[in-house]
Amino acid sequence: MTGSARPSPSKSMAMGVRVRSVGAKVWVATARPAVKVRSMMLKATNGSPVGSGVPRMLELTWLAGTHDKPASKASPVTAIVHTRRFIRTLRAYRGPPWLEQPVSRPDARGAVGRTPAGRPRSASIVGRTGQRFDVNCGPYAKNGGAGLAAPRGWARGGLAGPGLSEYGRSPCPPGPGSGRSLRLQAASRVRELGPGKLPMSRIRRGGRALAALLAASSAWSAHAQTLPAQPGLVVIVVVDQFCADFLDRFAEGFGKGGFARLTSEGARYVNAHFSHGVTVTAPGHACISTGANPRIHGIAANAWVPAGSDRMHSAVHDPTHRAIGSPRAPEKNRSPANLLMPTLGDQMKLRWAGRSLVVSVSLKDRSAVLLGGKQADGAFWWDSSCGAFLTSTYYFGEPPSWLLELNRQKPADQYLGRTWDLLLPRSAYAANPPDDRPFERGGDLLGNTFPHRLGRSGDHSDQAFYQALASTPYGNELLLKLVARVLKAYPLGGDEVPDLLCVGLTSNDACGHLFGPYSWEVQDMTLRSDRQLAELFELLDQQVGKGRWLVAVTSDHGVAPIPEFAVQQRLGGGRFSAEAVCQAVRDVLDSLASSAATQPAHACRFTLPWLHLDAGRLASRGVGVTRAAEAVAETLSALPFVERAYPFTLLESLTPATDDPVLRMARQAYYPGRSGHVYVHVKPYFQPDEEAANHGTAYSYDTHVPLLLYGPGIAPGVHFVPADPIDIVPTLCALLGLEPPPGTTGRVLVECLSRPAR
Ligand SMILES: [Zn+2]
Repeated sequence: MTGSARPSPSKSMAMGVRVRSVGAKVWVATARPAVKVRSMMLKATNGSPVGSGVPRMLELTWLAGTHDKPASKASPVTAIVHTRRFIRTLRAYRGPPWLEQPVSRPDARGAVGRTPAGRPRSASIVGRTGQRFDVNCGPYAKNGGAGLAAPRGWARGGLAGPGLSEYGRSPCPPGPGSGRSLRLQAASRVRELGPGKLPMSRIRRGGRALAALLAASSAWSAHAQTLPAQPGLVVIVVVDQFCADFLDRFAEGFGKGGFARLTSEGARYVNAHFSHGVTVTAPGHACISTGANPRIHGIAANAWVPAGSDRMHSAVHDPTHRAIGSPRAPEKNRSPANLLMPTLGDQMKLRWAGRSLVVSVSLKDRSAVLLGGKQADGAFWWDSSCGAFLTSTYYFGEPPSWLLELNRQKPADQYLGRTWDLLLPRSAYAANPPDDRPFERGGDLLGNTFPHRLGRSGDHSDQAFYQALASTPYGNELLLKLVARVLKAYPLGGDEVPDLLCVGLTSNDACGHLFGPYSWEVQDMTLRSDRQLAELFELLDQQVGKGRWLVAVTSDHGVAPIPEFAVQQRLGGGRFSAEAVCQAVRDVLDSLASSAATQPAHACRFTLPWLHLDAGRLASRGVGVTRAAEAVAETLSALPFVERAYPFTLLESLTPATDDPVLRMARQAYYPGRSGHVYVHVKPYFQPDEEAANHGTAYSYDTHVPLLLYGPGIAPGVHFVPADPIDIVPTLCALLGLEPPPGTTGRVLVECLSRPAR
């Protein structure tokens, strides 16, 4: 892999060859300005062939460009017809000569566009059921003529092949004009009328073929549907630490183009909960990307002590690959090596022979790396210790030149001295408690009240400034600069093979930890995220095209209110010291050990919800890890802020079945050697003392997240049935006609599909 973006092979070739990559899709172009309908896509959809490999049904998709509205601005429309009836109709049709005339001039120039030297005249494509089509690339493959360029990613050409055997066989006819399939154009006039309302006078005017087609195909009325086209780009947006109720509590302040666009035009699952009990960043992102729980994908914590090491390492630590991208890059080793299951991106790479582009970006390394998966073309993140965007040698031999250039401009430093003030008038925030609360932890760099000034003063280091920056909406803004640069570097959504872009908005998490979910800061952060998403969607509309991208928006976890606030609200809860817990654990272990005085102290680390022991040291002191975990769990269960504690021996097996929902969730969170040895279920609203607000438990404030889907194939609606972020990937796979990743245990969210799953 080289420095610059690595386009997939099909995308680097001429438009004509690009057709090769579209599976069973074929574009049929009309090249004559007088024809209103500019182009048409023909796609086999049904897996049960009739006779010699001919698909039983065809899914026809077309663009209806006109003189005043070019095809590039039209929305694709799809309908399903019986292949045989369709072919019979076409065979009977004898169209006016102009239909074929333009394509009989293979060297036509000027109005119909120039054929670049060396572009292949034809391309063979193999359909989903093995049927083969030959596609004429012709002079119109690039330019539809009369100045009407083909929309980005839409190839044009004639059609022939045994799938439609009446229209010629492989190899492709000598000239595009002899691909008599161009008569299909007549049928494309259907679009002008619209399925379901087909005045016969217009049909007659529009062409006898259409009339014949409609008459002959009784399937038309039965199967004609206005179905959207397959998306060229799938986008997964994960907003780090985003409670489901933010979409309601803060809705009044939303604009039109962000969350409101998703909730009004897309599907919203209001009852989406994670079904595992380790609600922190790395496990959550891996669940979203693989459609599986930590028990299966293996990312059971943000960090653990790998075998052979004596200290905690990030979930995306890999000693064989290092972070690159800036001369200031710290010594960090990063890759998806610990992720044990393929992601959606990996499945897309597999399905389309590597031609899907998969790019993942986030401010956090674990978010970017785990969303992308094993085969991602690149994962990019921001490192707050150096203030630069980084990637890893896992993806690139050398950092991409555009990344180096972006870092040379020091985009993060431009925020020095900036002020974060309220987006809306103060009255819009009145539903929250007051802005100034003593238990918020904005610290010296941000302070606890608006306006927050991002300055570097006194002995504050660059690193402190960068960390503060990442806790404000400017952190997400910085990330969107990276997204815009990525969209320039990679032709995402640029052709018929769907691509994947993963975006992790993580400033919401850093902000939430400092100020809590009932703060003005989190409200303002959410409102600004709304505006930033609107900008992202606008960018996708421009670069990929309206109706050509599909987005899923969710979160990796929610967050609990600040304990002091919970106490104020008479909800109970409080603080505990993780170190005090570990001391209690060490005391228990000492009482079990035979040689307490002569051996080093027991290691213990407690990060909600896992308590990690050191099996090696336990062994050196003659204590079995099973006995230790069980004794520790018993001791912890007696602590006043602990509801229950489960030793790993209870989690290893899914049997015996249990009615205890927390035990079920803890089992889904468990992975041997990576999760801790004891799962600690604290009482509600209790948190360790490190952060103002925290997450990581099995309570609904941590598990309940938004689940929004928007784009072609998704019907608008609100759904109350239970859902889980692990359902996103199988649903996207169903829409893409893709085998879900092998670890997937989520379900297809069939309620929101506007067309049958493929
Ligand atoms: Zn967090």
